[in-house]
Amino acid sequence: MEKIEHLGIAVNNLDEAIPLYEILLNTSCYKLEEVEREGVKTAFFQNGPNKIELLEATHPDSPIAKFIAKKGEGIHHIAFAVSDIKAEMKRLKEAGFNLLSDEPKLGADNKWVAFLHPKSTKGVLLELCQERD
Ligand code: ZN
Repeated sequence: MEKIEHLGIAVNNLDEAIPLYEILLNTSCYKLEEVEREGVKTAFFQNGPNKIELLEATHPDSPIAKFIAKKGEGIHHIAFAVSDIKAEMKRLKEAGFNLLSDEPKLGADNKWVAFLHPKSTKGVLLELCQERD
């Protein structure tokens, strides 16, 4: 595991949340991207060496819609940068962590991603992400 790459924050409405975070972080959103398979629209902000990802559900069955229905808006996941996502997934699986997929998936912001279930990480959804070549 390398540094924390970004924090994911679930929001009801990007049109409302983006301008708020632009003021808060004093920087413009640099990327808007929809990940159709995951049912999310994302907005990215660079903040020093870190990033913030805002996530809005695109349909009621989206994991983000379910998260907000249960817990409200707020921190949804912490993403760690890794250099070899498959090796890291194997290492964590062998160590007993519960991964949400067997293979890395295509994520937002040009990344390969995989998630660890919060039940095996003391309540936090963790994302591994590797830059795609
Ligand atoms: Zn993320």
